[in-house]
Amino acid sequence: MEAAETPALFSKKGFYGALMEWAMRDERFKTQLFRFVDVLPTLTSSQEITRHLNEYLGEEQVQISAALRLGLKAASGASWLFGGGIKSQVTGMARQFMLGNDPKEIIEILLKLHKQDTAFTVDVLGEAVVSEPEADQYAQRYLDLLDLLGREVSKRQPPCKSNQGSRGPLPALNVSVKLSALYSQVHPTDPKTAVRHISQRLRPILRRAKELGAFVNFDMESYALKDLTLESFRTIFEESEFAEGPLCGLALQAYLRDSKADLHRMVDWARTQNRRITVRLVKGAYWDYETVMAHQRHWPVPVFAEKAQTDANFEKLSQFLLENDRVVDSAFGTHNVRSIANVLAHAERLGVNPRAFEFQMLYGMADSIKSAVLQIGCRLREYCPVGELLPGMAYLVRRLLENTSNEGFLANKYAKGAGREELLKNPLEIPAPPSVPAPAHAGHEFQNEPLTDFTITKERERMTQAITALRDDLGRRQPLLINNKAVTTAEWLPSLNPANQSEVVGYAAQASITQAEEALSAARAAQPKWARVAAHDRAEFLEKIATLMRRDKAGLCALEVLEAGKNWTEADADVAEAIDFCDFYAAVMRDLGQPKLTQKVAGETNSQHWLPRGVGVIIAPWNFPLAIVTGMTTAAVVAGNTVIVKPSDQTPIIGARLVSLCLEAGLPPGVVNLITGPGSTVGAHLVGHPRLDFIAFTGSKEVGLKIWESAGRTLPGQRDLKKVVCEMGGKNCIIVDSDADLDEAVVGCIASAFGYQGQKCSALSRLIVLEDNYDKFLNRLIAAADSLRVGPAELPGSIIGPVISRDAQQRILAIIETGKKEAKLAWQGSVPDNANACYVPPTIFADVPASSWLFREEIFGPVLAVTRAKDFDEALSLANDSDFALTGGCYSRSPENIALVKAEMVCGNLYINRGITGAVVERQPFGGFKMSGGGTKAGGREYLENFLVPRVITENCLRRGFAPAEES
Ligand code: NAD
Repeated sequence: MEAAETPALFSKKGFYGALMEWAMRDERFKTQLFRFVDVLPTLTSSQEITRHLNEYLGEEQVQISAALRLGLKAASGASWLFGGGIKSQVTGMARQFMLGNDPKEIIEILLKLHKQDTAFTVDVLGEAVVSEPEADQYAQRYLDLLDLLGREVSKRQPPCKSNQGSRGPLPALNVSVKLSALYSQVHPTDPKTAVRHISQRLRPILRRAKELGAFVNFDMESYALKDLTLESFRTIFEESEFAEGPLCGLALQAYLRDSKADLHRMVDWARTQNRRITVRLVKGAYWDYETVMAHQRHWPVPVFAEKAQTDANFEKLSQFLLENDRVVDSAFGTHNVRSIANVLAHAERLGVNPRAFEFQMLYGMADSIKSAVLQIGCRLREYCPVGELLPGMAYLVRRLLENTSNEGFLANKYAKGAGREELLKNPLEIPAPPSVPAPAHAGHEFQNEPLTDFTITKERERMTQAITALRDDLGRRQPLLINNKAVTTAEWLPSLNPANQSEVVGYAAQASITQAEEALSAARAAQPKWARVAAHDRAEFLEKIATLMRRDKAGLCALEVLEAGKNWTEADADVAEAIDFCDFYAAVMRDLGQPKLTQKVAGETNSQHWLPRGVGVIIAPWNFPLAIVTGMTTAAVVAGNTVIVKPSDQTPIIGARLVSLCLEAGLPPGVVNLITGPGSTVGAHLVGHPRLDFIAFTGSKEVGLKIWESAGRTLPGQRDLKKVVCEMGGKNCIIVDSDADLDEAVVGCIASAFGYQGQKCSALSRLIVLEDNYDKFLNRLIAAADSLRVGPAELPGSIIGPVISRDAQQRILAIIETGKKEAKLAWQGSVPDNANACYVPPTIFADVPASSWLFREEIFGPVLAVTRAKDFDEALSLANDSDFALTGGCYSRSPENIALVKAEMVCGNLYINRGITGAVVERQPFGGFKMSGGGTKAGGREYLENFLVPRVITENCLRRGFAPAEES
């Protein structure tokens, strides 16, 4: 192996070698190159290719030496400068790692491997299926592949040397399956259903494999799918039909901290089932993704931080596998010579026949190591992806990353010329690199509340139990809370479960005008004293509320499920956001509570302080039933104001729960008062009251404008200009560019349009698709929408539930009917036949004219208007043609178009290449302008200033010409 030539992959000669060498030297070039490679297969004209090439790798974008630029030009001929040639160069590059789609070509390559004594496993490229028809197609491709290879493989006798194991011949036909591609609706809350659907598509594959005597391996993908993959494996191979075959195995990733426990469990399972399985031990290919996602979600990082830890774990697990050679067959997937040598040494020590296990390596990589493994008489299997380039791009980029990483064995050996000593070092002896200090924080300590990881069984059980417990306690009367005392009323309004209108969640007291006045007087009386409580003590109250919410998390989620019809994950996100508001505003107030020096000048102090505004009313909507009311209430209160909270008529019980938690946290009487009742009477009365100082409103444009107007009128006896914090609706748009990653765009658009039945102010309701993609994208979008699971929110895995109320249902259904006259009804989903529930079938209109009502007005339901644009400029001007400016988004892989939307798309929150809902406190301060609101950003640092007035204090420090040292 030492004597072997540098593999072509790492040769500095030629197009690929030159690119990889530079990629290793320059991170920026690497990023730009890989992004270009990623988009390339979707580009259809040479003009488009040239444009993207310039946008990513033009002289202004990356600095590469003139020599490299020349080298690249020479390597690819003049075509480097013109679009078409580069595509075939990159296709050639991809073909080094994948087998393509042509059956003849596939057979030829596998035959060649056979002649080289190398066994194979084939995997069908493609990881993202966005709809059930796509999952069907994917399963069918496995069946076709089995048929094709079954015919060919049976002709080859004797079996290739690598398929001759110590226990006899092994199946020559070996396929690797990715389970995520067999079901499009995997949802963390409902693994059971996912296993059922995956099993349905697996059975025909396993049956065919059994007939053909083929081996089936389950590949391992992201961590989120790991337990599901293990569960699917155990479930299906416990079925009597598959108890005797086909031969099967699964991959385990040594970079996962859980891998030891998983391996032990699988070995135990094999032992109790009395069934030999193969475990393919790999290191893991999604390290960056797992690390980034865990950080984003504040979840424990599931992978080891250091590569050396993974290598060491691989060695430990290898040993364990070999020790259990009587129960499991081992396949060691590695290109690392040290890891291979370690396996061989353990095998020798344990007396395991070297042909009892195999090494697996990727097609197109590590040729010299493969030859060496064969030369020493070991078995070798190549992992061969087959399929189209487009779905293969994720795979290609993973290979390119691996070949250019600082840590890969191959890159270290061949590209960096690392010596034997370094390459073969015991990973346990490699010192951990110095830890990088966390980036300095913006002046306060705040961390977002993690979302619940429902892939954990215990969390799912907690939620089910909370719903059951709540159901036993429904139907109570919820009085008003004034001056920390319960106040009953003459009238009570039932709050109904949107999924079952005969289920009363609770009865909300209906305040009279007199009671609203009483609440106002209580708040007025309490305010001066509350304002004198130190800012950090007020902040502590908020933190107590956050702690109580954490304590009651599952119960609060359950309440959202039953009162607001939020599904588990949406409810959990809302409660987490409420907790974030408490903690974040507490942190911001601690900072604002300190006077700030305005300018340093000798002999005088100048500082800015903040004073509370006084008494306010909090008027909240139902769609984020806890988070929004909590955000507005806590911001006002921590700033030293007192408030009257008026939750929505649709979710009064959740609103009341917030006020109860405030009281439990120890807020003094009168600081937070609860008034439930009709917004149009008690709400309007309070808004117009001369003794009110501010209004924090979130809701519809219709009501918001009334409040804006009413608050602007100054009444006799009024002492303050009323401040209105006003957040209203949206008609939010996403542009899908012609080079967009459609897998991501479909998923993001579906989640944005239909998450919580489209009842989010941030929801996608106008989708503008560039002509080139229009039909293809619309078809995939419809298929994806059609695959969504519709059902009551309490059922885990329900994505679409009922809308909030009977009124909302009737209103939206009427809009859909009118919409049919304005645009083409492209698709309408079906909903459960349940007259007691408020379902609205999710609906997609296509070719929607920009002048139509559907395109212009907020519907606030599961209705999506899709419009075609001939080019990007037209798309952008359609997007901006709206009275609203709340959220917006764009899926594009053109750096110039991305720059254009960043500069010109009119909205308060813009999201690029992701869905447009789900703003996170502090990370994405949320709110719009124009008819979407007053430009205040909830969850942002400046939000509290809405509830404060600034005051500057200047003090002359000179007394008889003497100034104290610190003030001079
Ligand atoms: P809504 O406007 O009907 O009601 C909001 C609140 O106002 C309720 O508490 C209601 O009782 C009260 N109200 C109604 N009439 C009133 C009046 N005349 N005077 C005082 N109060 C009155 O809105 P909704 O249906 O609860 O919520 C959905 C709307 O909220 C959508 O338009 C959505 O886009 C918007 N929204 C905006 C944001 C944002 O941050 N911009 C967030 C969530 C919801």
